[in-house]
Amino acid sequence: VHTRKVPISEDVDLSVLARGTPGFSGADLANLVNEAALWAARQSRKMVLMVDFEMSKDKVLMGVERKSMILSEEEKRNTAYHEGGHALVAAMTPGADPIHKVTIIPRGMALGMTMQLPIDDKHTYTKDFLEAQLSVLMGGRAAEEIFLGKVTTGAGNDIERATDIARQMVCDWGMSEMGPLSFGKKEEAIFLGREIAQHRDYSEETAIRIDHEVKKIVTAAYTNARTTLDTNRDTLERIAQALLVREVLDATELNLIIEGKPLPEKVRPTPPSAPAVPGKEPSLAPRREPQTAPGFAKGEKPAPA
Ligand code: ZN
Repeated sequence: VHTRKVPISEDVDLSVLARGTPGFSGADLANLVNEAALWAARQSRKMVLMVDFEMSKDKVLMGVERKSMILSEEEKRNTAYHEGGHALVAAMTPGADPIHKVTIIPRGMALGMTMQLPIDDKHTYTKDFLEAQLSVLMGGRAAEEIFLGKVTTGAGNDIERATDIARQMVCDWGMSEMGPLSFGKKEEAIFLGREIAQHRDYSEETAIRIDHEVKKIVTAAYTNARTTLDTNRDTLERIAQALLVREVLDATELNLIIEGKPLPEKVRPTPPSAPAVPGKEPSLAPRREPQTAPGFAKGEKPAPA
């Protein structure tokens, strides 16, 4: 419906776009198409290509690329191993959402990003799925410990999200040894925006048991991530090195690396207006954003940052 008035190229696969935009409202989709059309117009193109839609989707989902943000070589290296850790754990954990893209180009507040693409719109989650996602979240920190021999603040957001999920598993969804009980009534305090006031309706002893269960769930996920990476060290090494060279890897490229196959020289069609310079390293991502406005991340995403 939203692409009806926009001239789109034959290479545009709307079903792939649809899979990458679960939970988007009609207005979100209209915005996505609009951004893509604007981008195509800036490139003086008459048709909107798939690359335009991909650009637009990444911008809406992950925030604007911050090419101007200079990362030191060491930060880049840290980020490559960290994101590689997420990606490899996602690829190796049965039941986790498949990887869509992994990048070490800074976007919004994040230095890198691993995006997973759900196969379908999910409205309920199984315990297995949540545990798989927790392992993926822990993949970044586990990779830092194994490959860098140090830990960074880069995993802060992953840890926060993992802890939140684990706490909900215990307190809201009855997915722990605490049984099918709800702990802590939540009231949405509308006057305070989206802040949630939580008041405790359980004893100090129960609080300790909840903390214990939360810790157990997160630690199990960490151990799983660490074992996966430990047994696939060579693969993660290859992913990190490829990320340092290419900055972005998509699902196909990631699978080639995991299978131990070489990556093709040119993997993505270059937009007509930006011909590749021979002899230069192929750039897989647009070098410059037309806008300098801060990125707008869209809600909470299941993929770790
Ligand atoms: Zn991370």
